[in-house]
Amino acid sequence: MKKIVVAIDGHSSCGKSTMAKSLASYAGYKYVDTGAMYRAVALAATRAGLLDTQEIDLPKLRDLLPTLDIDFIVTPQGQHTTLNAEDVESQIRTLQIGSAASRVSAIPFVREQLVSLQQAMGRAKGIVMDGRDIGTVVFPDAELKVFVTASPQVRAQRRYDELQAKGTPMPYDDVLRDVLDRDYRDTHRDISPLRQASDALLLDNSNLTREQQSSLLQSWFDAKIR
Ligand code: C5P
Repeated sequence: MKKIVVAIDGHSSCGKSTMAKSLASYAGYKYVDTGAMYRAVALAATRAGLLDTQEIDLPKLRDLLPTLDIDFIVTPQGQHTTLNAEDVESQIRTLQIGSAASRVSAIPFVREQLVSLQQAMGRAKGIVMDGRDIGTVVFPDAELKVFVTASPQVRAQRRYDELQAKGTPMPYDDVLRDVLDRDYRDTHRDISPLRQASDALLLDNSNLTREQQSSLLQSWFDAKIR
């Protein structure tokens, strides 16, 4: 059967990863969470003290980058991100590292390095990749492109519930502010800003259940591989 590339882009906390994972398992495809890759760089930069001040130490970050081996492993709890063979999945999922990822992802040489790694991962097709620039920059020729969104309030509520469930609660207003700040940064940066590719299908899941959105996505996928 024909193998394709599925590019899923969208705002933060709109359930992209859940959708992408479920489609990858339906299709028997590899799943790549590119946000996790930016988060891994952010974690390494944070550990090295490069994000302590407003100004990022770019020469040091440039030196750090080639020393980072970012990959994914399958664990009984699902796919986890590794940084130099260390499982960093839980450490990269904090709000702090999410914001740090948004900062490092605006740096051109960071994007260049991660985009070429992502293109290599998808060369053989049979992949579902999610992020912000997959359909516009990483795989502009992807056979299926989906742009996912939901209202900022719905996304903040989902993130608030997630943080609560993880035992790291935050006030709703702070979570909403973070969602809005990240939207602004992701859509206004000079390099690869978040935008819907002209040939991407729009999926607003504000009022959809997970099951409804999965079956919609599966029907789009089935139509493409026919
Ligand atoms: O999707 P996630 O929230 O994990 O991504 C973390 C940050 O990484 C985003 O806020 C965004 O700034 C950045 N990112 C990006 N390009 C991607 C994926 C994520 O700039 N392809």
